[in-house]
Amino acid sequence: MEKIKLGISTCLLGENVRYDGGHKLDRFLTDTLGQYVEYVPVCPEVECGLPIPRESMYLEGDPESPRLVTSRTKQDMTDWMVKWAQKRVVELEKEEVCGFIFKSDSPSSGMERVRVYNEKGMPVKKGVGMFAKIFMDYFPLLPVEDEGRLHDPNLRENFIERIFTLKRWREVLMRKESRGNVVDFYTCHKLLILSHSPKHHQMMGKLVARAKDIPLKELYQQYQTILMEALQLKTTPKKNANVLMHMMGYFKEELSSDEKKELLEVIENYRQEYIPLIVPMTLINHYVRKYDQPYLKQQVYLHPHPNELQLRNHV
Ligand code: SF4
Repeated sequence: MEKIKLGISTCLLGENVRYDGGHKLDRFLTDTLGQYVEYVPVCPEVECGLPIPRESMYLEGDPESPRLVTSRTKQDMTDWMVKWAQKRVVELEKEEVCGFIFKSDSPSSGMERVRVYNEKGMPVKKGVGMFAKIFMDYFPLLPVEDEGRLHDPNLRENFIERIFTLKRWREVLMRKESRGNVVDFYTCHKLLILSHSPKHHQMMGKLVARAKDIPLKELYQQYQTILMEALQLKTTPKKNANVLMHMMGYFKEELSSDEKKELLEVIENYRQEYIPLIVPMTLINHYVRKYDQPYLKQQVYLHPHPNELQLRNHV
């Protein structure tokens, strides 16, 4: 697989673009995730023409539609930033980014809970950075996170699984359009989708069953929408445990009663969050390989992202 194109706030890469001439290097993003990702850096404040160093800025007014104002000279940068951001998202669309990692708390780049000051100078943490808002409105279904939230193992696993899945889907889009390609992708992502949303899993099944009766473009469009919506819903131990139980059903004949008992215990321990997902997954993977289970061995759910990232060791 080619590297995944991902937008990122430039300062997270260690570039000295912040208002004070500093950076906010995040080593996980550069050294670990960076092995699989081609970053497309975006610094809204510098790219819209401001110097380094510069005055800091903040959001003020209505948290739903705040103004972006410089701290000392009180210049209103809102229109300037909006005009630039509206052009930049179109460029990012052409670059086919699979998502974005924002710098938290920034009035330009923060994706949530950014301070917005009211007329009395009191902050409420209800704002969204000016560029982040325009990006998320333009790409409502693309995966987005900030570097702070990515310290949470569940959010990290979920985000990375989504960008890898989206990249695989984009590779399907690059091939010649065919119903077979959609069906193949659907087939090997069935359990992964089930782990996010049984409802979307069912919707996809119905869509693919009618594939022959739907014009090809529409099939791609509808499938993509369901896929992106499904991935927005997070996996949970309960949903994963249900998928693991479903997988266990494929070994009814092969496993001894003692092995079944052991696997059930491991799945239950995971459901109760006593052990991480990697434990039942390793056991299931072992049986898939041992019995060469044809349906399960093609499931992306077993290996949705590189083992080296160790994402399932912590969820
Ligand atoms: S938070 Fe955004 S605007 Fe601020 S330095 Fe980083 S990339 Fe630039």
